[in-house]
Amino acid sequence: MHVVWQDGHHSDYTLRWLRANCPCATCREERYAAALNTDPLRLLETPAPSLEVAGAEFVGQYAIRFTWQDGHGSGIFPFAGLRACCPCPECNPEGQPALIEE
Ligand SMILES: [Zn+2]
Ligand SMILES: [Zn+2]
Repeated sequence: MHVVWQDGHHSDYTLRWLRANCPCATCREERYAAALNTDPLRLLETPAPSLEVAGAEFVGQYAIRFTWQDGHGSGIFPFAGLRACCPCPECNPEGQPALIEE
């Protein structure tokens, strides 16, 4: 996903990063469980999340919501968080961080 910000700065986000950082409650819980590694069987049974975007829509003035091909679409990405996670070396010389939520 290519974003041109109001100040003219450009950011490129991979779909993989966006999906891996989906801020919805379900994905957050899954990441938490994966981090704890408490239930590896359940994780193996979970189909790989779709990396294809079916649609995107603005949520007011502050965020964007993606709908993925597998029907998942509850993650709302605030622009401020996306901008803070710009993958360019100027914004994040140490590499792109995980999504920073307000
Ligand atoms: Zn999600
Ligand atoms: Zn940047």
